[in-house]
Amino acid sequence: MSPRNISGVLKSLAMWVALSAPLCAGALSFSNRYRSPRNPERPIRKSTRLIVLHTTEAGARSSLNKLSERGEAHYCIDEKGVVHRIVDKNREAFHAGRSMWCGREECDDHSIGIEVVGYHNKPVTLAQLDAIRELVTILKKEYRLKDTQVVCHSHVAYGAPNKWQKRNHRGRKRCGMLFAMPSVRQKLNLRSKPAYDPDVRAKRLTVGDPYLEKVLYGNVDTMAGKLGRNIALEKPTFFSSFFKKNPPDNSSEAGKENYYAKPPSASSLKVSEKNKKNEQTASAKKPGRKISSSDPKSLRDLEDRMKYIEVGVLGKGRSPYAVAGKSWNSKSAFYYNRGTITRGDRLNPKKVKAGTRVFIRKIRSNIK
Ligand SMILES: [Zn+2]
Repeated sequence: MSPRNISGVLKSLAMWVALSAPLCAGALSFSNRYRSPRNPERPIRKSTRLIVLHTTEAGARSSLNKLSERGEAHYCIDEKGVVHRIVDKNREAFHAGRSMWCGREECDDHSIGIEVVGYHNKPVTLAQLDAIRELVTILKKEYRLKDTQVVCHSHVAYGAPNKWQKRNHRGRKRCGMLFAMPSVRQKLNLRSKPAYDPDVRAKRLTVGDPYLEKVLYGNVDTMAGKLGRNIALEKPTFFSSFFKKNPPDNSSEAGKENYYAKPPSASSLKVSEKNKKNEQTASAKKPGRKISSSDPKSLRDLEDRMKYIEVGVLGKGRSPYAVAGKSWNSKSAFYYNRGTITRGDRLNPKKVKAGTRVFIRKIRSNIK
């Protein structure tokens, strides 16, 4: 190869790297820069029953230095979404402190600790949400954990009796509590969370922080609408009333929830009449079948992270608009339910079902 050819190749390689940079959005970027000097002295963990999410309550540099020095986490995710390896994932990190879950104390010896640079009551960045989701998905698979085994530090931390609390009590910390909020868990692809505090129920602990209890087990969600800046979750306009949930009628099966829209306005009725005609003429095909060649044909296509972002699951209080933002009814939104894929512009909002997964196509320039 002549030098000119080589420089040409290098140039196009550089171009390719530059162009494909956005592709890294779905992939994890790891760093070993803050790997802890404590690693060799830490015992190998015998079991892994929990993934514990924390917030550092401090900036990246001081957090990373401290975590590394003391070996207080397995991973720390900075604001850019970089995953810093601190303690080897098969060893014990000292992240949970005085802790108990399901009667088992010292959660450090059966959990993985992930610190997220940020605060328990403030939204974390989109890059962090992406990175947590990817990392947690990998770890869940590796250690065969369910979504309910992904908890916050505040779930498991407990306090000893003190001036204010006569007994051992939950609520020693609010660390990581935002990761129990519905809108955040949705972004993390976590479909369920612990329904109650097993140690309070068994009377091993008392409730020391009633607000925290509401966040962890109720529906307090101070992050709703503050996440997902790439998919605009602007203030709902008329759609917010459009997607109000009415009680399911007697035709709905048990355990399934249907979401009915309010009667549409006169102008939208005209459109839906037209659609109806089109649908009738196009024979009795399911709406999900009418997919053009470039559209995804299977769940496998949708799960291609280079091409699509999974933005959440429909359900109570999670209308297409709430999940996908203003692109909910666009050609780049796709709804997957039981083998059927429906494109956003063909979605009948009256028939959306809870449990439908929502995907958004990445911008074309990013795919190339
Ligand atoms: Zn913590």
